[in-house]
Amino acid sequence: MKIEFYKHHLSKNDKEEVQKVLDSLFLTTGEWVDRFEKKLAAYTENKFSVGLMSCTHALELSLRYFGIGMGDEVITTPMSFIATANSIEYVGAKPVFIDVEEKTGNIDASLIERAITKKTKAIIPVHLYGQMCDMKKIRQLADAHNLKVIEDAAHCVEGKRDGTGVGELGDIACYSFYATKNLTSGEGGAISCNDPAIYEWFKMARMHGMSKNAAERYTKKYEHYDMKFLGFKCNMSNIQAALLINQIDRLEDLLKERESIAKLYDGGLDRNFYIRKPSVVSDTKHARHLFTIWVNSEKRDGYMDKLQDVGIGVAVNYRPIHLMKYYKQKYGYKPGDFPVAEKIGASTISLPFYPKLKTEEIDYIIKTVNRIIIN
Ligand SMILES: *Cc1c(COP(=O)(O)O)cnc(C)c1O
Repeated sequence: MKIEFYKHHLSKNDKEEVQKVLDSLFLTTGEWVDRFEKKLAAYTENKFSVGLMSCTHALELSLRYFGIGMGDEVITTPMSFIATANSIEYVGAKPVFIDVEEKTGNIDASLIERAITKKTKAIIPVHLYGQMCDMKKIRQLADAHNLKVIEDAAHCVEGKRDGTGVGELGDIACYSFYATKNLTSGEGGAISCNDPAIYEWFKMARMHGMSKNAAERYTKKYEHYDMKFLGFKCNMSNIQAALLINQIDRLEDLLKERESIAKLYDGGLDRNFYIRKPSVVSDTKHARHLFTIWVNSEKRDGYMDKLQDVGIGVAVNYRPIHLMKYYKQKYGYKPGDFPVAEKIGASTISLPFYPKLKTEEIDYIIKTVNRIIIN
């Protein structure tokens, strides 16, 4: 059997929506982007959303909106995709890593306060694998120290915790529609927020700081534009938005499907003494982006080889950011600095986890994992 690590779930409906854009006048930012933004904002129960080219852009622009740059520090987690810390590097600020919770892999909110200095300007929590961080506590800390909170919600459009969703307690939430994410257009990103000033700034910042986009300039008669500030170029196109629009209606159903796959995995792997898994904290709606298991770190790479040899696609999410060459060289990080993140990074294996997985594929994965992981 050959089981891909990921397969997208684009439907006929999604493809037809793209065809409509291709047959229309504006391929770039326009009507479809507007419609997508309204739907994403409504789904996340935020007032506004702005479509961008990636979550990396969303994070970087969020930091820039708050004027964070040279000489500033931003607190974040080493247990994430490198994009999270890189966005802080782009603006010239320093990422200050905090170790993660043993049980979830999320930033350990109880360790944040001692890392706050006069230079600290913001916290970027990452809702790892789709499970939200302790946003109540993070918001309290941020308010006590006058910090901004930018949520990296690349794994977590659907999540909730303690009754609040993504973007509610953070100042800005950043989303990714990269190829393997729950909601995907191959590449793409967005923010959501509740402050009209943030919304207005992002609409211009994604387009060079221009006061009008192409659709606005040309739909009726040509209108002059002005450039209000030095913006960027990372606006979402109608083509991307069209792919995304109808997926939003299916998010809850797709989540249910991933939830039932997670149950099958849990049931099938629970008796294996050599496998541990992140746990779900109480009062949480888990967005179920990735399904990872934790195994003996000395055997991990060998297990991955064996799983791939018998056709099972796997990945590592993630090797901790502070031990990447760039971060080691620039800041002098070394093994032992963030032991919990390092332990997770050395022992984690992500299994195939998407609605298209067939029952016999899931059975095969469970059987094979239990046959291979035996010490
Ligand atoms: C995928 C991902 C990103 C980056 O998303 P892009 O849209 O590819 O820029 C950022 N953070 C996390 C946690 C991710 O998984």
